[in-house]
Amino acid sequence: MTRRHVLALLPAAAGSSCARQESASPDSQPRHRVADVLTPAALEHVQLGGYVGRKVDLCVRNRIFAQNWDKLVAPFRQRAETACWQTEFWGKWFLSAAAACQYSRDAAARAHLHDSVQSLLATQTADGYIGNYADGSHLKSWDLWGRKYTLLGLLAWFDMTGDGAALAGARRLGGHLMTEVGPSAADIIRCGLFRGMAASSVLEPVVLLHRRTGDERFLRFAEWIVSRWSAPDGPQLIEKAFNAVPVGERFPPPQRNWFSWENGEKAYEMMSCYAGLLELYRETGSVAYRDAAMRTHASILSTEINAAGSGSSEECWYGGKARQTEAAKNPMETCVTVTWMHLCAHLLRLTGDPRYADAIETTAYNALVGAMTPDGSGFAKYSPLAGVREFGEKQCGMELNCCEANGPRGVMLLPQVAVMKSAEGPAFNLYSEGAWNFELPSGAALRIEAKTDYPASGLIEIALHPARPESFPVRLRIPAWSAKTSLAVNGSKIGEVHPGTYAIVERRWKPGDRMRLQLDLRGRVLRAADGSRPYAAVARGPVLLARDVRLGQEAVDEPVAGFSDDGSFIPLEAIAPPPGINMAFSAGDGLRLCDFASAGNTWSTDSRYRVWMAERR
Ligand SMILES: [Zn+2]
Repeated sequence: MTRRHVLALLPAAAGSSCARQESASPDSQPRHRVADVLTPAALEHVQLGGYVGRKVDLCVRNRIFAQNWDKLVAPFRQRAETACWQTEFWGKWFLSAAAACQYSRDAAARAHLHDSVQSLLATQTADGYIGNYADGSHLKSWDLWGRKYTLLGLLAWFDMTGDGAALAGARRLGGHLMTEVGPSAADIIRCGLFRGMAASSVLEPVVLLHRRTGDERFLRFAEWIVSRWSAPDGPQLIEKAFNAVPVGERFPPPQRNWFSWENGEKAYEMMSCYAGLLELYRETGSVAYRDAAMRTHASILSTEINAAGSGSSEECWYGGKARQTEAAKNPMETCVTVTWMHLCAHLLRLTGDPRYADAIETTAYNALVGAMTPDGSGFAKYSPLAGVREFGEKQCGMELNCCEANGPRGVMLLPQVAVMKSAEGPAFNLYSEGAWNFELPSGAALRIEAKTDYPASGLIEIALHPARPESFPVRLRIPAWSAKTSLAVNGSKIGEVHPGTYAIVERRWKPGDRMRLQLDLRGRVLRAADGSRPYAAVARGPVLLARDVRLGQEAVDEPVAGFSDDGSFIPLEAIAPPPGINMAFSAGDGLRLCDFASAGNTWSTDSRYRVWMAERR
């Protein structure tokens, strides 16, 4: 597809010359808001237990609520910065804290959040700026990126509380931004790093500002940002998606400085732009925006995402799926893990396609939880598929790094997507012990209770308690890996269910009706090749398995006897896990494996681990 063809798909504002942008009127385009097919559960009406619930609780208590928020606001009082990203931390922490506050219904935490918003708003300058860059350094490096997270945090607080001061502050900050950047001001793709992708990802809160305020200037500004991506030196986020350029091949590697403007492969920033583009699709109904994001998602899934559900090396796309048996430099940035989950969640909401939930599940149980320390107080910056888990450096004098601030946002996504709401009824995406209070389309209340020790076993028992008997469909995600699934309602087996789809059970539900779902947790052989050498890994349900020296295998890097073919099943016998390990299995021939999230979780060489095993055959 040529650039001209792509532009034909876009609204009139998508030209690249200033003259054209100013003459185009997005208002003249037919516009309609797009409703989500699935909406996230209201966090105050969810309580997760079991494995996932424990992980959420640890993260909330030991990382999110343990954060000294005043340290995150302090940089905003300085305004002398020229290069660093101290101002991303308040917003990133706040997004997870707002979610944790709703989930835990913790009044003290809510008061702390209120105080932090007040303190932050007190730093706003007379012209509307909230940030820490010196007057002469505005727009440089990470200034706009920080403003993005500030806007997202303020809008999250407004959504949670209706606090008009937070919305007014965000609106002024957005208004000030439009005086510095725009058709008659600075060009956003020349701001900051990575071909303007870090700066351009401010698109997401700009669209939300339009939605919350109805101020058309924000929508025009959002369309202008997207139009600048198509400039000859822009990141080409729509053209390259339509031209099916794999995300790891969109731009040549930078010649000099890796973390520079010319690097167009930065994974976190690229996905953040598509999250904004999907918000703009919700606002305008421009299907090219949705399709560009979906095509990019498909490219990431097919060329980058590894068996643990994440990717990247040195924070960039690099064709990592085909190279996952190699030792990559600084692999699987946790920011990439979390932003990938958020991109999947956007598309799950918009399409109702359970394959996006499949991807979230794989990432959650492996890359995300594996990056979290056992007590939930910290997150790795990078996570290899073989080696030793390590903490990242503290950044910008903040006693935190980007990934420690983002990890909790991935954790807090889990209670939002586990059971979602369609226009007709509930949709189960993640299987966890838990309880949910829903409102049915009729307005009647529905309480759901799930009992399971998943992913230890594949049995999930769900009880439905509608306030009164009522007909509605219940959607249950049948994971693509679950080859043999059985589903029964009140003891009666439901006919065929198909992997990779929702099983939809529509009936007149009465209080106390029960569903019993049995997923297929047989060990599955995964394959990858490194040149001519075959490698295998083993997964069990959503859980990737790994060798770990604590399982009595000093030589975790030694080859193993050959496995059967890709996609085939192997017997796994559960064995008593050593201390600190959640699940362990014997796979025959002396091979012992544990869950990837437990592997390496002493964060030292005494738990060295390995996912991909070279085969002797
Ligand atoms: Zn990071």
